[in-house]
Amino acid sequence: MHTDPNCLFCKIAAGQIPARKVYEDERFLAFHDIHPAAPVHLLLVPKHHIASLADATEADTDWLGAMMALAPRLMREHGGAGGFKTQINTGPDGGQEVMHLHLHLLGGPRPWGKGG
Ligand code: 5GP
Ligand code: ZN
Repeated sequence: MHTDPNCLFCKIAAGQIPARKVYEDERFLAFHDIHPAAPVHLLLVPKHHIASLADATEADTDWLGAMMALAPRLMREHGGAGGFKTQINTGPDGGQEVMHLHLHLLGGPRPWGKGG
């Protein structure tokens, strides 16, 4: 599996940096965002390193689909049963700050504050 030793989310996946993990399997890891933008704000990441969705090709279809299909289960189990938002920020103009593809899962009772 391709990982990047300098990447924050690869380090979290490797257990080198702590995170409030809520889910882990062979391919994916989910943990609480350190600066939550909603009552429930999870980040779902592939364990292999891919910098952004801009790098995805048809070869990534299977795991991208699996990652999306995992989202509702995680949100049901972690306070987002009432509904949630999914967001992938891609590249500088997409507002991406951590260059390891991640799916934001935002939910919990409203109001969420600005931007919600
Ligand atoms: P982006 O802007 O790249 O889509 O989102 C990066 C997200 O990662 C932000 O919401 C930010 O709060 C979160 N984040 C950054 N550093 C850490 C960290 O060390 N631990 C956790 N759990 N989240 C982080
Ligand atoms: Zn990475």
